[in-house]
Amino acid sequence: MNNPDCLFCGIVAGEVPSEKVAETDLAMAFRDINPQAPTHVLVIPKRHSPTLTELAGAHPDAAVGVLTLAHQVATDEGVAGGYRLVCNNGARAQQSVFHAHAHVLGGRDFAWPPG
Ligand code: AMP
Repeated sequence: MNNPDCLFCGIVAGEVPSEKVAETDLAMAFRDINPQAPTHVLVIPKRHSPTLTELAGAHPDAAVGVLTLAHQVATDEGVAGGYRLVCNNGARAQQSVFHAHAHVLGGRDFAWPPG
């Protein structure tokens, strides 16, 4: 479940500090260290999977757990009326931490298409 070389597994284990905002049995949410919006929270599965593709294939319950907690975070942060859920899936999509995660971004207007 835990990958000793993974930064986000270290956060799940409490070995790496984070500003946790919510948690379920399947997922954990904490503030991004480099926020791109007034609300910028990362939602991750507690179980290690490098990408959302692999998580959804191997552990669909955990993938649903990430989505469910993301909406709960948006509600708790007061941005549920309009927020962006970003999943950078793979290096070509600029994923930089290879433990699956979703970004909950809110509190400002967003442009489309994304870069
Ligand atoms: P991605 O580029 O989609 O893989 O996003 C990784 C995100 O993790 C980036 O937005 C980083 O700012 C964020 N990040 C990296 N290290 C930490 C950390 N220790 N605590 C919180 N967020 C982090």
